Amino acid sequence: MIELPLLPIKRKLKSIAVLTSGGDAPGMNAAIRAVVRFGISQHIQVYGVHKGYSGLLEGQIEPLYASSVANIIQRGGTILKTDRCEAFFEKSTRKEAAHILERKEIDALVVIGGDGSFTGASLLETETGFSTIGVPGTIDNDVAGTEDTIGFDTAVNTAIEAIDRIRDTASSHDRIFLVEVMGRNAGYIALLTGVGGGAETIVVPEHRKPTKVSIDAISKTVERGIKRGKSSSIIVVAEGNTPGFTQLIAAELEKKGHAAKVCILGHTQRGGTPTAHDRHLASVMGASAVMYLLNGKSNGMVGVRDDKIQLVPFSKVIGKTKPFPDEMLRFAQVLAV
Ligand code: ADP
Repeated sequence: MIELPLLPIKRKLKSIAVLTSGGDAPGMNAAIRAVVRFGISQHIQVYGVHKGYSGLLEGQIEPLYASSVANIIQRGGTILKTDRCEAFFEKSTRKEAAHILERKEIDALVVIGGDGSFTGASLLETETGFSTIGVPGTIDNDVAGTEDTIGFDTAVNTAIEAIDRIRDTASSHDRIFLVEVMGRNAGYIALLTGVGGGAETIVVPEHRKPTKVSIDAISKTVERGIKRGKSSSIIVVAEGNTPGFTQLIAAELEKKGHAAKVCILGHTQRGGTPTAHDRHLASVMGASAVMYLLNGKSNGMVGVRDDKIQLVPFSKVIGKTKPFPDEMLRFAQVLAV
């Protein structure tokens, strides 16, 4: 079980701000709550920035109190709202953002988001000297430097619940179902959903080159299943970057004599009540961000490695690809026989 690291206090903080940026993820509210309540316990005034970097530039900043974050730990989405802000790609805009924060006498900014949001945070600190720290909140679990991200467990559980339902129809009608889960560049949701949902095969973006090989492999898996007496199959497909990819697989399978239904889970995986795991992860990560700031650290992300919280410099996170556990995918195939 991950725990809050206990670190010596090396820096005095009067005020800090917290924002959520990029795609929302279940558990972001639990992280906001932890930043606010742990901050208050350390005599820090915590400000909430609405609508990510856009709201920051518009000065949408308000003090948060213990009561402001009451009754939110169980809610998906983010009470602070989130946004994608083109203007933040400009250096002059980031300088303006630092001025806005400094004018409010805010000492540091906690950014809950993914790789893109951390790029903005890192540039802000490097260019202006304003302290930033990242908390990984994304359902995709595609952030380097951490084994887990807030929202991933919830998204996987949502997808597995959907597969359990689809399986009833698949087995009653002897059908093949292609279930598309989220994951443009990363197949972590597909992998864990496939393993937990007992899928016959799992298609991940990491293994999608060339496309034809995947379809041949899927077809062979289906045929092997039929020979062994299976009348239905569940195939989990990560959405990837090619729109309509799952339909393409269905069309190709049909050409090979295997008619398949497609079910796209889409944004149902992004919302909903966070699991106990995500609430715990978010609570510890949010408080750890404040703890690291008090310890004098910044320009990095709170990550998890071997069940321990660590601070990973942004330079080791941004633009880095997390290695995909190929052996787990092979293992899933072994169990699906
Ligand atoms: P995520 O944080 O989930 O990866 P995005 O990639 O959409 O989400 O990034 C969220 C926001 O972070 C962007 O809208 C932008 O404001 C900021 N951002 C992303 N990349 C950069 C960058 N290279 N420079 C400055 N800001 C960035």
